[in-house]
Amino acid sequence: MTESAQKKYPLEASIRKLYGVGDKKVAALQKAGIETIEDLMYYLPRRYLDRSSITKIKDLKDGIETTVVGQVVRFGTKPGKRPRFLVLLSDRTGELACVWFHSIQYWRNSFKTGEWLAVSGKIGFFDGYQIIHPEFDRLSDAGEGEFIHTGKIIPLYPITEALSNVGLDCRGFRRLLNHFLKNYHEFIQETLPEGIRQRQRLISLAESIRQIHFPNDFSALQAARRRLKFDELFYLELMMAVRKRNISESQVGIEFEKVGAKIRHLVQKLPFELTAAQKRVMREIRSDMKQPRPMNRLLQGDVGSGKTIVALMTMLIAVENDYQAAMMAPTEILAEQHFINVRNLVAGLEVNVVLLKGDQSRAEREAVLESIATGKANIVIGTHAVIQESVNFHRLGLVIIDEQHRFGVLQRATLMQKGQNPDVLVMTATPIPRTLSLTVYGDLDVSVIDELPSNRKAIKSYWRQENKRKEIYTFVRDQVGLGRQAYIVFPLVSESEKIDLKAATESYEKMRAGFFAGHQIALLHGQMKNEEKDQVMAAFKAGQIQILVSTTVIEVGVDVPNATIMVVEHAERFGLTQLHQLRGRVGRGSEQSYCVLIAYGELNEDAKTRLNTITGTTDGFKIAEVDLKLRGPGEFFGTRQHGLPELKIADLVQDVDILLQARDEAFRLVREDPQLLDLKDIGVRHYFTRSYRDKFELAQVG
Ligand code: ADP
Ligand code: MG
Repeated sequence: MTESAQKKYPLEASIRKLYGVGDKKVAALQKAGIETIEDLMYYLPRRYLDRSSITKIKDLKDGIETTVVGQVVRFGTKPGKRPRFLVLLSDRTGELACVWFHSIQYWRNSFKTGEWLAVSGKIGFFDGYQIIHPEFDRLSDAGEGEFIHTGKIIPLYPITEALSNVGLDCRGFRRLLNHFLKNYHEFIQETLPEGIRQRQRLISLAESIRQIHFPNDFSALQAARRRLKFDELFYLELMMAVRKRNISESQVGIEFEKVGAKIRHLVQKLPFELTAAQKRVMREIRSDMKQPRPMNRLLQGDVGSGKTIVALMTMLIAVENDYQAAMMAPTEILAEQHFINVRNLVAGLEVNVVLLKGDQSRAEREAVLESIATGKANIVIGTHAVIQESVNFHRLGLVIIDEQHRFGVLQRATLMQKGQNPDVLVMTATPIPRTLSLTVYGDLDVSVIDELPSNRKAIKSYWRQENKRKEIYTFVRDQVGLGRQAYIVFPLVSESEKIDLKAATESYEKMRAGFFAGHQIALLHGQMKNEEKDQVMAAFKAGQIQILVSTTVIEVGVDVPNATIMVVEHAERFGLTQLHQLRGRVGRGSEQSYCVLIAYGELNEDAKTRLNTITGTTDGFKIAEVDLKLRGPGEFFGTRQHGLPELKIADLVQDVDILLQARDEAFRLVREDPQLLDLKDIGVRHYFTRSYRDKFELAQVG
């Protein structure tokens, strides 16, 4: 054996090395993401069956979620008004019907008489017990069906058709894993230091792998699951800890020493008093900026909590110390609005603010670029145009990113590289449940503005069916008559963009000529030219437009305090976070504000939950928790670029405790042994560099 072959971790070998695995199986396994022996070992059961989790058919009860194991007696299509496909299952104590209303053609060729199935779902009664659209797993043969009754726990694996075609059904998998345990188990290397395992009372990795595939009993299975979840979350947080160290703790940044006249002037000029939360957050930021290491902080605050002013004060600190500050916003409308706001607020303070965006004329753009390069511009506000290569800063000291969830880690890093370790403040108006912020933003320090300005009245929110439309619009007309302004928002999603846009435009035309005739009403959507959009926004802000009919382009950031009514059409089609953001466009001044959600047609449970949640609370964090539960972590952010990891076994909603423990340990480890060089940490180092190689590099960016 060559030296390098000896050194290679045996479990990294191809799956092909396992007994009985030839070309066909290799191909099917690869398709399922299993390339190496280690991948196989981490291919975890989808669920488990044992006697205690199975109900005999004679003991079934109506309306209860149940698992039944039985043999297929017969199957076939039942014609009628609602044709259906039936599979009749027997477990010798009785018969249960499994019913499908869809894909009948498909199911027709899917079953064999005599085969064993484990089916789960809610029991109903119709001519005998039945489950409609059950979840089911195939048990490979009679042996297995019998096996269940011996009191063992049987793992069921996620099986694709390709896998079962080459004999890799659940039984096939168990055979393979059995072989693995006999021949490779001894090679499993522990990935956690002894100290952590003792403190956290974790069983060894080797034992957890054995128990997860072949549990002795449920408590052993529990211990195995906890250990594997811990592992997964530990390495995730370890990456955060390393990234945090690389970005800020080990770097030399700028010490912003002065806080001077400009901020004092600004605060005096403000027509309001800062909230206690704003002041506290400013102190946190201030103390970061004084430090010789770069600030890397996340500012969370619900919509309307007053983040912009905090951002501006932060930028002024940089400016007073002779550095430039850049602020990046996700949309043109928002960048424009920040620009106008900031410029007004700093009037008379001798601060030069410039705007950089995609659609400027060449001459305009060149003048802006020049002022950025020479340092004449103190504050640069823009869209992602700010991170383009052609933008050179004279002395960039601070980067602020608004609505971070719309930007990726890489964009953040690119902007940071335009200065010498500038301070970074990331702002988000989408409250993020703690578990998610610890994973996605786990490398940032966090400040929270958890208080709204005291002049706000709680927004009154309602949801109504579409047949109440007339009353709702009459209400809008009355309010507008009192001098208020209103938004009417239509959905626009990319899958049905054309139809949506047409619907929004048509409704707008109808309202303009009909119900709202004689009122100042305008349309705003993403397909309009930027110039037009700017004009409409400016006119709305100036109060010249009373009713703004719009698609979701106004979702983030738009700030018009006199607008007090938000009507959302087809509210059932919007996500929770979106609805919350939309509602955040009103309730920004001292007048009573209203949000009315109009729903169409019959609503499913999720849609009802969404609408009830919005009308039940204005607390963004509560709303975010519900949203996370409804959609799951991946969907929650809506984009792929947020760097959210794919987790195999841990669940960010349910495993908060484990996450916090794993995070503590990971940060502690990096504090004590930053390079992971200590002998006791070798296992961690190996596993980390092996499994997180690409992400590890990302961790070093910036
Ligand atoms: P967001 O956090 O959603 O970005 P903004 O910064 O746009 O919120 O602030 C919303 C509105 O509240 C703005 O009109 C702003 O001028 C105002 N505002 C900010 N701070 C206060 C405060 N302490 N008291 C009263 N109004 C405030
Ligand atoms: Mg904002």
